This record gives sequence, structure tokens and C-alpha cells, in this order.
Amino acid sequence: MLKPYADVIIDITHTAVDRAFQYEVPEELSGQAVLGAKIRAPFGNGNRLRDGYIIGFSEKPEYDPLKIKKIAAVCEDGMPLEGQMIRLAAWMKERYGSTMIQALKTVLPAKRKLKAVEKKYLVRRVSREECEELLALYRRKNQKARVRLLEAFLADEVLPYEMVVQKLRVSAASVKPFLEQGICILETKSRFRNPIGEHLVRGDSVHLNEEQRQAVNGLLTVWRGDKRPCLLHGITGSGKTEVYMEVIRRVVEEGRQAIVLIPEIALTWQTVMRFYRQFGERVSIVHSRLSAGEKSDQMERARRGELDIMIGPRSALFTPFSNLGLIIIDEEHESAYKSETVPKYHAVDTAIRRCELAGAMTILGSATPSAASYYRAQNGEYHFFQMKVRAKELSALPSVEIVDLRAELKAGNRGIFSRRLQELMVETLGRREQILLFLNRRGYAGFVSCRACGKAVKCPHCDVSLKVHRDGTLKCHYCGYETVIPKTCPSCGSGYIAGFGTGTQKVEAMVKAMFPEAAVLRMDMDTTARKGSHEAILSAFADGKADILIGTQMIVKGHDFPRVTLVGILAADLSLYSGGYEAGERTFSLLTQAAGRAGRDSLPGHVVIQSYAPDHYSVEAAASQDYEGFYWHEILYRKLLRYPPVSRMLTLLITSREEEEAEAMARTVKRQAEAINEEGILELVGPAKASVAKINDIYRYMFYAKCEEEAPLLELKQSIEALEWGKNVQYQFDME
Ligand code: ADP
Ligand code: ZN
Ligand code: ZN
Repeated sequence: MLKPYADVIIDITHTAVDRAFQYEVPEELSGQAVLGAKIRAPFGNGNRLRDGYIIGFSEKPEYDPLKIKKIAAVCEDGMPLEGQMIRLAAWMKERYGSTMIQALKTVLPAKRKLKAVEKKYLVRRVSREECEELLALYRRKNQKARVRLLEAFLADEVLPYEMVVQKLRVSAASVKPFLEQGICILETKSRFRNPIGEHLVRGDSVHLNEEQRQAVNGLLTVWRGDKRPCLLHGITGSGKTEVYMEVIRRVVEEGRQAIVLIPEIALTWQTVMRFYRQFGERVSIVHSRLSAGEKSDQMERARRGELDIMIGPRSALFTPFSNLGLIIIDEEHESAYKSETVPKYHAVDTAIRRCELAGAMTILGSATPSAASYYRAQNGEYHFFQMKVRAKELSALPSVEIVDLRAELKAGNRGIFSRRLQELMVETLGRREQILLFLNRRGYAGFVSCRACGKAVKCPHCDVSLKVHRDGTLKCHYCGYETVIPKTCPSCGSGYIAGFGTGTQKVEAMVKAMFPEAAVLRMDMDTTARKGSHEAILSAFADGKADILIGTQMIVKGHDFPRVTLVGILAADLSLYSGGYEAGERTFSLLTQAAGRAGRDSLPGHVVIQSYAPDHYSVEAAASQDYEGFYWHEILYRKLLRYPPVSRMLTLLITSREEEEAEAMARTVKRQAEAINEEGILELVGPAKASVAKINDIYRYMFYAKCEEEAPLLELKQSIEALEWGKNVQYQFDME
């Protein structure tokens, strides 16, 4: 198919992508003028030749063909980074359903003028002894400002000038004679902001064990060979991070760069410091708490070749390294790797695609791989490596018990702690060891429901249950709607209305009542809303400032607490009811990770899993730390119901303020899909109201199509996009 017109962006910046210009592709260039190619073309009134990039093609001219200019030349220097990113964006657009502009904005980091910060330092030029003598002298003279400066110089040879003036309150006039006498000098350095800090020392690396060495060798062999994606399945504590660092070291030695993705929640200071100790200034991080300026500085440093390694959550995937060699995705099963906004890309598939374009390799690491990744490893689509022992010699796997909460209730225990868990808590506190209590929820007492009619109090805008907070209000977690707890049931008028379920605050209150002596910390969305509070709670607990840490998901990721020997999982199965075909997988990985927090060091660990569904395979397999047992059950279920990864699934969300219009469009989509599906290879589900049928007064309908092959689903997607969508109805695709 001949495509005589190319869409070209002049200058590849975040804002330029909004404005593509149509150019004619001369026949002699049609072979080279491919998607992502760098070209030269006449631009503006003077028709000065400028560089540009091809971001798409069309058959039809957008205006008078005689006025459309011609591309002058295609640059020969292969497919530069920009070209790769354009191709990646085009793939994301196709695969996940978005406009080319949305996709380009996702892959091209917002570029801003990088402002190097001029920073002045005072550097001490006399020895410690001389400095002490001077200090004694100025103390006698009672010159307090100079005393403060000399004291600071004893602690540190290099002092930021700003700190001297602001914190030490030493004026320029007081510093001047020191400069004249050569006691110190003033240095000006221009540098880009580095979020990690400046004065850090390098540490020694560990000596890899046999299993780790085998994994490293295997991964490097693939890296030198076919570079297919690799799945590293290593139990918690098997030392995957050390393996990543060793592979990265070798890749960097060959002049290539590496991106390390870590879920935001697990991106702790501890992890970053491990990388920093090995690679020093050549590492940087991006995360959501950096300002936009700090983030784009880091991206710019990567572009300029100042960095070898970028660590960060999902968006770090698009770090502009020009010679990328490796992308590592730690905890690859995490749902945080799926983008919630359009394009709804998945970091795993997108990383693999970026690596294909860059001639690089993707490593997926997890203690509980997603069923999808494990399935692909079984099929040979990925290479597979495994690590089965904990790296620290002394630490053994914890002993795990399941407690049936139904039996507890029968035995008359109505509390939230089973008798066994209480017993172990007493013993653990007695040994002055630490306890983690894990709860899979948020809020004080969950939601409020009526005992007469059974209905929960719902948000009038969002069709979800309102959550009770301790201040006595009911809040909607989607739209923020707030109201007081009603005295009577809004549905039937009965006065028997009460809180239901348990939240972290309630657990905290009960623990404090049971163990008044114990110091308790709580970590959930409410206590970590402030910047830095997350780290503060974790380090307080790690420093032994509390005996018990109560928390939600946040406490089970990536932290090493050597003195934790008891983990209590209070309601293990709540996540089984979270909806979606991945509920079992999510439950298994949460329980496995939570259990893995016990006995990380030399002390033996215990785990109690309290559950209403003790026979569910996700709970049983997590208790016996049996990944494969879980996987074979899970994949059977996916096969039976044709869920991913066995089938591909296209999800369509239709939204509108007008309920009838949304519904009518959903029916049109269904008819379209049925027309395409004459041979019956697609399984069509819905349309139906979404499980959250209304958010912010916008109605939501879902429609699903499943198929073993991806191509028919992409075809369906295109035909849905081509439908007549009115102004009032919006849609979003998702491809799994
Ligand atoms: P994972 O990421 O697989 O859970 P980590 O890489 O965090 O495991 O390692 C767990 C702990 O074991 C860390 O404290 C780490 O420093 C330590 N460790 C890893 N490899 C070794 C090794 N070869 N020798 C000694 N300690 C190790
Ligand atoms: Zn009622
Ligand atoms: Zn709401």
C-alpha cells in the first residue's frame, strides 16, 4: 500500500507533538522514509531546511496537494533514540488504544530547559590541628560566628555556602578574612540537581552464592545471545537485587545503560542505597515525590550520557538512554505496572517492545511471578531462571499456620484475633521481638450497613459503599463525598444500622487494649498522606521504636526487618472478593509476600494466616510457599474461563453523563462485534454496567471480547474506533 504523505513533527519535544505537519514523500525516498525516521524538510515561510521525525502516514492530503511540501532528505544515521521512541509510541497506540499524541506524550519525557544550579562551597584548606588551634583562638576572642564556622569545618571539609550563611548565620564579612588568610577557599560548582545527595561513600559488594552466580551467568549468556526476555523466579530473600546489580555491572562495562523498575511502594531508601553504593553518581532515581523539575533534570542527565542506571516506577521505562542494554522489572507481578490512564500500557509488554527496538534485554523478577509471565516462561517465550534458597545463611523459611475463622466463631471467639495468634503475640512480645499485623483494607470500621434490610450506605454519585472514618463521617473514596452516619437506614428506615468489618484504626485500638505495654505503629493511607511519613514510620519500626506495626499492603513490600518474627495476616481472603479474574493471583502474592516478612534474619519466623476460606488454593499455596501448586490451579481456571494469558482479552469501557446514550452505544458496539464475529472465534461478554456503575455522575458500561489470537481483537478494536461516536459518549480500550 502506497502512503504518499507523512506526518512530521519538527523538533521532538513534548509540546511539538501536538502539531504534526503533512509532507509529501518523494518516490525515491519512500524506501527510507519509515516510521520514526529522521528527515530534513523545508519549513516555514523561508523554507529553511529543518530536522524532523516521521510519526505517521496517510493516503489522503489534508489540504491542497499542490501546496504540500516535499521531504528533502532522510538522514542516514540509522534509527536514533527518537526514532525508537516514536515506534514505541506507535506500538502503544495500536496495542492499547490511544491517539498518537497521547502515546508520544507518554514516551517523551516533558523536556524543560535544564537549569544548572550554581552552588558555592567553602572548602577548608588548613589541617585539623590548625583548625583546632584557630578555634581555640577565636573562642578566647569570643568571636561567635567564626567559632561556629570553625566547628563546622572540623566536622566537614566542604560546606555549602548557603548553609554557612543561613544555618550558621555567618556573614560574608566574617568569612572574608578567612579567605584572605587562605584558611578556606570559595568554590563554585555548577551541577544538576541530584536527588540522591552528594557525599556518599561506596561500599563493598557481597560475594554471590552458587545459585546467584548461575543466574547471573545464565542471564548474561542470553544477553550476549538471543536477548529474549528472561523471568527470574527467586523466593523472597534469595538475593535477586544482588543478581540484578551484577548483571547491570557487566552490561554497563560494555557501554550500555540499564533501567530498573521498582513498584513505587517498594522504592525505599534501602533499595536505592544498595544501588548507589555500587554505582555511585552514575545512578539516579525518579519517583512521584520528586518535583517535575527534578524529574526532568534526571531525564536530561540520562540523555546527556551522565548516567548509566535509572531506577524508578513505571514511567522510568521511558528514560532517554541512547544505548540501552537492559530493563529490569522487579516484582513484575505488581498491578502498579499497569497504567491507569490512557494509554493503559503494561510496563512488562512495553519494556519488552522497547528492548526489541533498542537491541536490549528485559529481565522480569519476582518471588510470585504473574501467571501470565510464568505461562510464557513455560512456553519458551521467555527464558527461565530460578533461585530457591535464601541468601543469608542463617535465615530459614518461616513456619506458617492457617487458622479457620469460621471455627473460631463457632468456638465463641468473636474478636479479630484468633486464639493461636494471640498466644504467639504474647510469646513474641515476651522475647522482645517484633510483630507485623497485616490487614488488607483501609478506614476505621469499613462500611455501614443495615441489619434489617442488609443494604450498605452508598455514595449517591459513585455506587460504592461509603467508608466510616474515626471522626464519625462517611466518605466516598472515589469522589470524596462526605456525610454523617445516618441514625436510620436510608433504604428501609430501620434504626438497626451499624459499622461492619474491621480497619487498621480499629485493629490498632484493639491491640492497644490487649497489650497496653506494647508500642504500636500504624501504617496506612491515612498515616502516610504526608510527604516522608512513609519512610519515617518504617525507619522508626526498623530502629526498634515499636513492638508492633499494623498496616495495609504498604508494609509487605521490600522491607527488611530483622527482628520481626511474627506476621499475623488478619483477614487473608478479603482480596479474593475484590473482583476481576486476577483476584486469586493477587491474594496469593500478597499472602506470600506478607509471610515472607517473618524471620528474615537469624531468628526463626512464624506466620498466622486467618481466613474464612482456608481451603482456597490461593491461601493454601501461600501457606506452603508453593508457587507451582498455585500456578497449576490458577492456569487451569484461566483456561476454563478463557482469561489471559491463555486467551487475549480486549476490554472496552464506555462512559457518558447520559445513561441512555451510553447504553445505546454499548448495544451498537455489541452489534458491530457480532457482525465481525461471523466465524465465532471471538467470545463476546456484555455489555453490562461496570462493577462501579457510576463515578462522579458519569455512567459506565463494560464490554469484553476474548480470543486466543491477538489479531482478530485488534481488528475488532479498529472497527469499534471507526464507529460513529457522538460527542456525549467516551470510550477507553484495554488489551490484556
Ligand atoms: P530479594 O530481592 O530476592 O528478596 P535481596 O537481594 O533483597 O533479596 O537479598 C536479601 C538479603 O540477603 C539482603 O539483605 C542482601 O543484602 C542479602 N544477600 C543477598 N545476596 C547475598 C550473598 N550472596 N551473601 C550475603 N548476603 C546476601
Ligand atoms: Zn435497611
Ligand atoms: Zn462518590
